[in-house]
Amino acid sequence: MLRKELHIFTFKDLLEHFPHRHIDKTHVDTIVSLNHNTEYAQVAGILLDFEILGTQRSKRLVAHLKDQTGIIELVWFQGIGWVEKLLQVGKAYLIFGKVGFFMGKPQIAHPDLEVYTTQNATGKSYLEPIYPTTEKLKAKGLHAKAIGNLTQELFKQISEKDVFENLPENILQQYKLIGRFQAYQQIHLPTNMSNFHQATRRLKFEELFFAQFSIQLIKLGRQQFSRGLVFEKVGELFTNFYENEMPFQLTGAQKRVLKEIRKDTASARQMNRLLQGDVGSGKTMVALLSMLIAADNNFQSVLMAPTEILAQQHFNTIKEQLKNIDINVQLLTGSTKAKNRKPILAGCADGAVQILIGTHAVIEDKVIFKNLGYAVVDEQHKFGVAQRAKIWKKNSIPPHVLVMTATPIPRTLALTAYGDLDYSIIDELPPGRQPITTVHRFENGRPQVMDFIKEQLKLGRQAYVIYPLIEESSKMDYENLMKGFEEVKSFFPEPKYWISMVHGKQTPDLKESNMIKFVTGDTHILVGTTVIEVGVNVPNASVMVIESSEKFGLSQLHQLRGRVGRGAEKSYCVLITGNKLSADARERMKIMTETNDGFKIAEKDLEIRGPGEMEGTRQSGALLFKLANIVTDKNILEAARDSVANILEKDFELNTPENQVIKNYLQLQKSKTQWSKIS
Ligand code: ADP
Ligand code: MG
Repeated sequence: MLRKELHIFTFKDLLEHFPHRHIDKTHVDTIVSLNHNTEYAQVAGILLDFEILGTQRSKRLVAHLKDQTGIIELVWFQGIGWVEKLLQVGKAYLIFGKVGFFMGKPQIAHPDLEVYTTQNATGKSYLEPIYPTTEKLKAKGLHAKAIGNLTQELFKQISEKDVFENLPENILQQYKLIGRFQAYQQIHLPTNMSNFHQATRRLKFEELFFAQFSIQLIKLGRQQFSRGLVFEKVGELFTNFYENEMPFQLTGAQKRVLKEIRKDTASARQMNRLLQGDVGSGKTMVALLSMLIAADNNFQSVLMAPTEILAQQHFNTIKEQLKNIDINVQLLTGSTKAKNRKPILAGCADGAVQILIGTHAVIEDKVIFKNLGYAVVDEQHKFGVAQRAKIWKKNSIPPHVLVMTATPIPRTLALTAYGDLDYSIIDELPPGRQPITTVHRFENGRPQVMDFIKEQLKLGRQAYVIYPLIEESSKMDYENLMKGFEEVKSFFPEPKYWISMVHGKQTPDLKESNMIKFVTGDTHILVGTTVIEVGVNVPNASVMVIESSEKFGLSQLHQLRGRVGRGAEKSYCVLITGNKLSADARERMKIMTETNDGFKIAEKDLEIRGPGEMEGTRQSGALLFKLANIVTDKNILEAARDSVANILEKDFELNTPENQVIKNYLQLQKSKTQWSKIS
């Protein structure tokens, strides 16, 4: 039963089935002191009377208990027969339960009830743990209290030997952590609240410590033992481009990241690097420069984009930038015609193609490389781990991999979910960018927003109007989109204005041709759902209007906003919402209008939504802990991370005496035989 309902298999599981809260039974309340703010109360008094009222479904037992200050009503709807046998008018009882008020009078339904004796006369001297349970377990008599009894029983049988210390003494001292056995005792049966907090902190630290341990071990193991290709030199292709062709100076952040990549690729270990940079921070140039270094060392590179449009855009930009450089760059996507495909595939196989740009078509089995040395994956969140692994297999020694993402990942997430990747950040925008002005408008202000778009179109700019599509199948969302499209059309009639529409129900061809019309400037306004491509670059677009903004998460709003502000012109983002906003939605609008900083927004997003809900990481499990919460326990996380890094740096094989406790624990974890099974 325990097994099925709560996944409790062993004593260890029972120990780790933590109470979700404690009830203070250290004192007895007087009835007169109970008020609407009282949650739980313990009362001692004499039973005045009791009777059974109602029949069948409305049947209930009502009793009255009196102390020196007043009278409280007790009610039972279930187990009436059993309670009836227990009650005796005139006898003293100690009761405990959740206080409610009925017609202004205090009442407790289904109180815990004990005969009041001299022993319990002063109340209990501890905080009583309340355990999570399920309805099914309750039906079998295993309510929270029974689980508590099991736990208490368990503590009578075990000692420090069974729950031995797994953190080194110096760490316990440095972070002022209590011992492990003590922590388990105090989290279940705390002697006071402060001890309970100490216990929680210690166990959270332990949890994060060992999670960090395995993440950092994987990373270090890879760094030490995986063979990597060596890019020995920076050669002529790079130097020539860098000195003569590059259209701008690199920002400091771009330079720094390039150095990090350079160091990795020269080190004979395989690079798996995550490059984060907010929209427009210039990740593509970093990719291009590092691909030139690969080519300088006679290695081939691929640049993968999640969609055809993005692949095409990358190809066009890079081809243009490399027009005076003698290098073979090709484009390969799903729609590359067979007759063009053949020579490209041949060129990949014989090494003639030096840079191959495309969609995931570039890593299909048919594409064979002579010596693939480097792979850049753009807009990471659409590529899974499986695809990364596919790249590794493309060469006998796995190519270096750079994964680029514009979805800022808060530091805490980077430490946990992505902790095994090397990590670079472009935290600086190219100079001269004008910050996007963001405003929040209510629906009734829509005509003014349309007038504003008109002014911008007059200046020769283009605009996006985005509608939410929460679910692909949601009929209402599509209806809203169509209504919206008609409305926009009525403000912007043909033939003076042209509008493209893109959404997920269109065929890929239609979607693409509509998108391209906007990219080339043939249409003035793009009306669409969020299927408008991430990363698409239309520098002439200067207005982003997001309808029903309250339906979007912060990250998504920020991504959409990033579609504008890509040119030299001042750009605007208008968030339109309904008039009634939840506190959360109001907060999101406020954050969006206050900052353009993707990292700040990502932090806030994580705070608001919590670690369980972050995009792309939901299944990873890396973010969800029994006790720790990576948002609220950020400090503990960083302390655990630092101490693990420190230990692994000095004593990778855990040979020093002080680190034996870790080693022993890890070995036990592996064998998992220390706990006898509960049946
Ligand atoms: P993202 O990081 O979003 O992929 P891009 O690589 O598309 O950004 O760069 C956005 C724009 O900024 C491009 O037009 C690019 O040419 C330009 N850019 C990149 N780096 C610099 C720089 N150091 N100075 C000026 N412009 C730059
Ligand atoms: Mg990009």
